[in-house]
Amino acid sequence: MTLQNEETRPFDTMSVALGTTPRADPAGTLGVDLDDNGHIAIDAMQRTSLDGVSAIGDVPNGIDQIAVATGQGAVAASAIHDDLSASRS
Ligand SMILES: Cc1cc2nc3c(=O)[nH]c(=O)nc-3n(C[C@H](O)[C@H](O)[C@H](O)COP(=O)(O)OP(=O)(O)OC[C@H]3O[C@@H](n4cnc5c(N)ncnc54)[C@H](O)[C@@H]3O)c2cc1C
Repeated sequence: MTLQNEETRPFDTMSVALGTTPRADPAGTLGVDLDDNGHIAIDAMQRTSLDGVSAIGDVPNGIDQIAVATGQGAVAASAIHDDLSASRS
């Protein structure tokens, strides 16, 4: 393969990284904090800056993988359960 700088290198395989741009504007409109890259800012339990609002998937992070999104869903569900239980006690 010939690179942009005209350097030629042999490869057996090639992966293409498309790159993505988060579309978190609707969440920003709600008042949810976004980070410097435009992703929804979250804590370790997927909570956003807005009480009672969690975020999972591509918009709160830069690891765009289905397994990551579903794992975050499980974390968020656990945190929501804990938060609701705490608010009732
Ligand atoms: C070409 C491509 C290939 C990929 N291949 C893989 C792969 O092989 N393995 C893997 O793990 N991941 C892959 N991914 C990444 C994977 O698709 C995402 O990580 C995953 O879909 C994220 O889920 P999500 O629910 O956060 O977002 P999405 O699946 O994008 O769902 C967001 C939904 O919100 C809707 N929406 C957006 N804006 C609005 C709005 N304003 N109002 C209402 N609805 C709205 C959209 O229409 C969409 O249905 C790939 C992504 C792309 C683009």
